Amino acid sequence: MEKILFKHIDTPDQNKIETYMANGGYTALPKALKEYKPEELVEMVKKSGLRGRGGAGFPAGVKWSFLPKGTDRPVYLIVNADESEPGTFKDRQLLEYDPHQTLEGTIISAYAINCHDAFIYFRGEFAYAAKVMERCIEEATEKGFIGKNILDSGYDLNVHIFRGGGAYICGEETSLMESIEGWRALSRQKPPFPAGEGLWRCPTIINNVETLSNVPHIVNKGAEWFASIGTEKSTGTKIYCLSGHVNRPGNYELEMGVNLKELIYEYGGGILDDRPLKAVIPGGSSTPVLKADEIDVKMDFESLAAKGTMLGSAGVIVMHDGTCMVSALHRLIHFYEHESCGKCTPCREGTNWMQKILTRMIRGEGKPEDVDLLFDIASNVIGNTVCPLGDAAAMPVMSFVEKFRDEFDNICNGGKPKGTLKFPFK
Ligand code: SF4
Repeated sequence: MEKILFKHIDTPDQNKIETYMANGGYTALPKALKEYKPEELVEMVKKSGLRGRGGAGFPAGVKWSFLPKGTDRPVYLIVNADESEPGTFKDRQLLEYDPHQTLEGTIISAYAINCHDAFIYFRGEFAYAAKVMERCIEEATEKGFIGKNILDSGYDLNVHIFRGGGAYICGEETSLMESIEGWRALSRQKPPFPAGEGLWRCPTIINNVETLSNVPHIVNKGAEWFASIGTEKSTGTKIYCLSGHVNRPGNYELEMGVNLKELIYEYGGGILDDRPLKAVIPGGSSTPVLKADEIDVKMDFESLAAKGTMLGSAGVIVMHDGTCMVSALHRLIHFYEHESCGKCTPCREGTNWMQKILTRMIRGEGKPEDVDLLFDIASNVIGNTVCPLGDAAAMPVMSFVEKFRDEFDNICNGGKPKGTLKFPFK
C-alpha cells in the first residue's frame, strides 16, 4: 500500500519548506482556495469519510458542519497536538518530520470553516516540535501561505502556537480551551459543545494532528480516492503505534482495517524473545485489553467495537507471557490517578482508591474481597464523570479484572505474581 502521511517521513529536511514543496507540498492549498468554496470543502471532507484520529473517531466533515451558519462571532480552529495517551506517539513524528503537511491541512481546514485565527496546541513536552512548527509558520508566511490575502484569494489567516504545561487532561478539548484562555485546565461540562460555544465562548473546531494532515491529500486526490482506502466506515490509512514486547516497535502507516495479528507478527516482527503473547491493548492505554486469542481482528473503529474495545488513538501495547497483569494495571492507574484534574468526585476519588487497592495487591497485602471492590469502584466511575478521563481509567480496570481475574485472585490470596516481569514501579 502506498503511504499517504508517511510517504516522505524519512526524507532528509522534509520539515523545511523547500523540501516539502519539492515533494508536492503546498499544491493542495492554491487548489482549495481557487477551485472550492469553503462549504464545498466541508462536503468533500464529509464525503471522504475522514474520521477523527485523536481517539473518538467522529467524522471530521460532520463536525465542521455543526458550526452555526452566518455567525457574527469569530470561528476558531484548534489543532490538538497534545498527544499524551500512553502508547501513542504518531503525532509527534508527523510534527517533527513533516510539519508542513499538518500546517497545510490546518490552513485549508481553517479556510473551509471560515476561521481567521487557528491555534496549534502543543503538549508541553513537545518543545522541539513546537520550535520546528514556529519556523514552519515563518516559512509559510514568507511564501504567502499564511497572513493577509493568502495567494490573492482575499482570505486572511493567522496561525498561533500555544504550548501546554504538560498535563494529560489538556488533550481533552474543553480543558484544552480553558488552558488557552489562561485558566487551570479543568474540563467543562458538555453541552454546550465547542462547535457552538468553544474558545472564548465562540464557535470552535478542534481536530487532531493526524486528522488534519490528511486534508491536503483529500483536496489533491479527491474524496472518492480517500474513501476507497480502508474499510467502508473507517476510511483512509491509520498510523498504528506499536510498542511493548515486539521485535520491531514503531509507527506503521497502514490501511484502516489491517489485521491486528498481522500488525504484530508481520510488521512488528513478532513477540520479543519468541515468547507467547499474553495480551494487547489496541488503542492507547485507556482502551479495554484483548487476550491473546482475541487478536484476529481488523484494526478499525467498528471491528474493535464489536470485540468490546476501541481503536482509540491506535496505540497498540503488546504484552508477552512474562507480564504480571496486576502490576501492569497498577502502572496504568497510577498514570490516570496522577493526571485526574480533580474536578469531579468519581474520577478524583475513584482513581485514587483504585490506585491504593492495586498498590496493596502488588505489595502482597491484598485481601480476597479487593478484586470485587476494585471492579465495583471502576463500574461506578464509568459514565459518571465530567470528561472521558474517568472512563479512560475505569475501562482498563474492568477489562483487566474480567479477562485476567485468576491473576488478581491469586495475588490477593497470597500467591506470587503470574509473570516474572514487573513494571519498574514501586
Ligand atoms: Fe477532571 Fe477526571 Fe472529572 Fe475529567 S473525569 S473532569 S479529569 S476529575
